[in-house]
Amino acid sequence: MITALGASREGRDIHHSTPALSAQSLSIEAVADSTATPSTPVDVVLVGGGIMSATLGSIIRLVEPTWSIRIYERLDAVAQESSNAWNNAGTGHAALCELNYTPEKADGSIDITKAVAINEQFQTSREFWQHLVSADLLPEPEGFIASTPHMTFVRGAANVDYLRRRHAALVVHPLFSDLEFADDPAVIGEWAPLLVAERSADEPIAATRSTSGTDVNFGALTRKLTDYLESTGAELHLQHEITSLRQRKDGTWRLKVADRTWNAAERRSTVDAKFVFIGAGGGALPLLQKAGIPEAKGYGGFPISGLFLRTTNPELVAQHQAKVYGKADVGSPPMSVPHLDTRVVDGETSLLFGPYAGFSTKFLKKGSLLDLFLSIRPSNIVTMLAVAKDNMDLTKYLISEVTKSRWNKFKTLRDFMPTADPKDWEFITAGQRVQVMKSHPEKHGVLEFGTELITAADGTIAGLLGASPGASTAVPAMVDLLERCFPQQFPAWHRELATMMPSLAPQEWSSEEAFAELEADDADFQKTA
Ligand SMILES: Cc1cc2nc3c(=O)[nH]c(=O)nc-3n(C[C@H](O)[C@H](O)[C@H](O)COP(=O)(O)OP(=O)(O)OC[C@H]3O[C@@H](n4cnc5c(N)ncnc54)[C@H](O)[C@@H]3O)c2cc1C
Repeated sequence: MITALGASREGRDIHHSTPALSAQSLSIEAVADSTATPSTPVDVVLVGGGIMSATLGSIIRLVEPTWSIRIYERLDAVAQESSNAWNNAGTGHAALCELNYTPEKADGSIDITKAVAINEQFQTSREFWQHLVSADLLPEPEGFIASTPHMTFVRGAANVDYLRRRHAALVVHPLFSDLEFADDPAVIGEWAPLLVAERSADEPIAATRSTSGTDVNFGALTRKLTDYLESTGAELHLQHEITSLRQRKDGTWRLKVADRTWNAAERRSTVDAKFVFIGAGGGALPLLQKAGIPEAKGYGGFPISGLFLRTTNPELVAQHQAKVYGKADVGSPPMSVPHLDTRVVDGETSLLFGPYAGFSTKFLKKGSLLDLFLSIRPSNIVTMLAVAKDNMDLTKYLISEVTKSRWNKFKTLRDFMPTADPKDWEFITAGQRVQVMKSHPEKHGVLEFGTELITAADGTIAGLLGASPGASTAVPAMVDLLERCFPQQFPAWHRELATMMPSLAPQEWSSEEAFAELEADDADFQKTA
């Protein structure tokens, strides 16, 4: 099967077994879960119903079909926070268009190391989703992933020169061989008419385009993965918040659960677990702190809120079929790079522009204004103060963004689309990001824009902090987690997982064989996508 997921590599997939499909495993699972009591701990508790928990649960279900799994979600549905389609930008991050993955070195050359790593990680995610679809464990991929060209668009002579050099550095790598460059407005206009309509002919502009990009509805994917997990006997507890947790003498964890499904006073209970994953998004830091593991000490969270502009005007939507990333303003955080995107959500196509970064003390969109203050501990206050001192540029940038009028915000869209008219667009609130602040031997504290996997030394608990590149790399992040938390089981699991995700097997990109295979896959994809 060939879809926006890419070539299925069926030749390699076909021989492996799919344990979660067997009726026997379903019945064993159902028994395992229904008999779990505080004295018989659940094998795996997933805190939070976002893409990370859904991904980890699905991978575990495939390699250990008899393990009992429970998901606790504080809201009344899964994927209501960052993983919701309208709370994130839905970009399948593969470094095809994001300039922050290709920094310029002091000697003027372009470093593509990070771009290659991000692309490879996204391929792993695609392979996993493709595997689940091929094995009929997920429904058709059109419901959660769509082929959408990825473009980068820059203005000004210096940026045009940078983009040309970036293209030259990337296009020689097989993962980026379809990347096209243009500085001719006519060509750019063919790729994305709204970028050039009524733009001054004197302005130097350039763009790159890759047709192998994707738009992903991570909310729909989370729901489908959760449905799959439930169909195999995993229990989903909505409106159940984990309020605290502690490790018991036998190494298992006792979690306190607040049941908010009742209108009357909430009910409290406990659940014991052999392994806990804190996939609570912005809520992960407070829970890791409550768990008291030394590995979480010194971490702080820096919340960044966001706004998007959205249009559903069919005339505009019909003229733009791409995700077009620009260049970040000086001092702005990498995740606030503006982009004009086609979004396909629940069968409806619209355009999204943003994000506009802002500041809020909440760690979750539906969180509390006290979140930031309650996360300050003796163990992280030095880190947080050091970050505040060293990141004045970011503070100034956020203050200027927060205080900008909506009209001034809107004008940024006109840099991309000179004909943009405010009457076509509405502001929507994006998801909340919590960037990681961590201790540093020399600087005392640094702000990180990536994700940070925290795992306890005994492998019984793990949590994920940060938000970028986020959902796109959920699969490799969760495989990494399994390797770190389950070192004994992992070699056997890895062999099985590599049959589902060939990129997990050791690869030699420089070998001619691997190049040829990749090119054949790409050719298939181009013919059929
Ligand atoms: C503005 C923005 C744009 C983004 N754009 C992209 C993009 O284009 N591409 C991309 O790949 N990634 C993107 N991301 C990142 C991506 O959305 C996140 O990395 C990803 O969704 C995080 O998934 P998660 O499961 O960790 O968290 P979430 O989806 O936030 O899920 C966490 C869940 O835990 C629940 N929870 C919290 N505390 C508790 C508790 N105590 N008990 C029970 N439940 C709890 C929450 O209610 C929530 O449902 C973007 C993020 C933002 C904010």
